[in-house]
Amino acid sequence: MDVLKFGGTSVANADALRKVIAIVQERHVSSQRLVAVLSATSGTTDALLALARAAGRGLFDEVAMRVEDLRDRHFGIVDDLISGGAARLSTRERVSSMIDSLSSYCQGMAFLGECTPQSLDEVASHGERLSTTIVAGALQDAGLNAVWFDARSVIRTNDAFTEALVQFSDVVRLTEQHLIPTLQLHDIVITQGFIGSTADGRTTTLGRGGSDYSAAILGATCGARTIDIYTDVSGIYTTDPRLVPEARPVPAMSFREVRELALYGAKVLHPDTIEPAIAKSIPVRVLNTFQPDAPGTIITAEQPTDVAIHAITMLKQCLAVRSVGASSSRQAQHIADASGFPVVLQLSWLEGSLMVFRYRDAEHAEHIKAAYENIAEHIDDVVTIVAVGPHAGRADAIAEVARIAAPFEPLAVTSGISPVSVVGVVNERGGLPVVRALHDQLVGP
Ligand code: ADP
Ligand code: ASP
Ligand code: MG
Repeated sequence: MDVLKFGGTSVANADALRKVIAIVQERHVSSQRLVAVLSATSGTTDALLALARAAGRGLFDEVAMRVEDLRDRHFGIVDDLISGGAARLSTRERVSSMIDSLSSYCQGMAFLGECTPQSLDEVASHGERLSTTIVAGALQDAGLNAVWFDARSVIRTNDAFTEALVQFSDVVRLTEQHLIPTLQLHDIVITQGFIGSTADGRTTTLGRGGSDYSAAILGATCGARTIDIYTDVSGIYTTDPRLVPEARPVPAMSFREVRELALYGAKVLHPDTIEPAIAKSIPVRVLNTFQPDAPGTIITAEQPTDVAIHAITMLKQCLAVRSVGASSSRQAQHIADASGFPVVLQLSWLEGSLMVFRYRDAEHAEHIKAAYENIAEHIDDVVTIVAVGPHAGRADAIAEVARIAAPFEPLAVTSGISPVSVVGVVNERGGLPVVRALHDQLVGP
């Protein structure tokens, strides 16, 4: 049994979905049973969150407009994708009744003028519920023994809405009760990424980008041979191809390297994805829906040792707080502990400290700056750059990174916590030039 996951751009429109369906059909021939985990169509989760916020502000007209946009968009995909009259009609009906219940729910929110984290999750969950409904309908129309499966019946979480924590032992039990029997009856199970539910049946989500994590959880609980993450690029690249066009796929990486990349800004994979796969030693592959024959990247427990550095990533939206003197450093630490500001990196010496925080938005950045303005010597807008690779943590690799970054006066260059990474902090303006220079000189062709 294999688990395949398709991200937002892979299910964005009928053309992309035809590619997904072709991959599922081909994989079905070679592997028999499949669980396909789908994201919402690209842009839909953002649109749903905007809908929920409009509902919370009581904006009835905007709610109605946004709901109808979602209906039109999903109907458009059904009509483009499903040719059989009966299958098209029944899929349209299922989509319509989901949108109707979404609409009633949002009207209720608008009457109350309230948008709680719980209602954000309930609304956001519709993206994945809709995309999977369409794909299941299309596969059934193509004559495959495929079934729609509600991930909320197995992905049990706590009630930390919008960032819920998965209760793994419950998921194992529920998978045995509900998913394995479904897999015995059907060749292909189509289910949602990103969403889960509490023990008392309230819908939760696993955090943005969480569909990768859902796929890994189900891969681990079903004992999959591989977990294949299909996206819009051909694997994990030497750096974000949107930042450096010369970036190219890395054939093989270790779980440890990929986790660091994901934690420090490489959006290609949700960082939690790695954990369940490691626990069961299931290889994860990152593949391209639009070029399914490209080899992609294989991620395994073993550390490939082909080159010193595999990839570079950059975490934006960071603030570096430098404090001088033992008492200021202690206060800086105290503020961080009390406020729960997300710390990315922390270095301390007898005579001072450097703390790097990640902020969510401009308001959050101002909040952090205000908390430190009276005790910090300097507060700088910075980026955190991480190079990962088999020998990235060695002194010579750290020295190389420091040499290349030197013209941009880095605030710090240090080994990462694991032997496969080196971390640099540079001024925001220097971020992209440093990434490009490191890419050219350390991993370039
Ligand atoms: P999906 O919707 O399939 O989950 P994402 O948008 O979450 O896709 O992730 C894929 C994107 O991640 C790519 O389009 C790419 O721009 C970005 N990305 C960032 N860093 C990397 C990297 N090192 N390798 C590949 N892609 C990367
Ligand atoms: N649809 C969700 C998001 O946009 C989850 C995912 O795509 O992984 O964050
Ligand atoms: Mg993603």
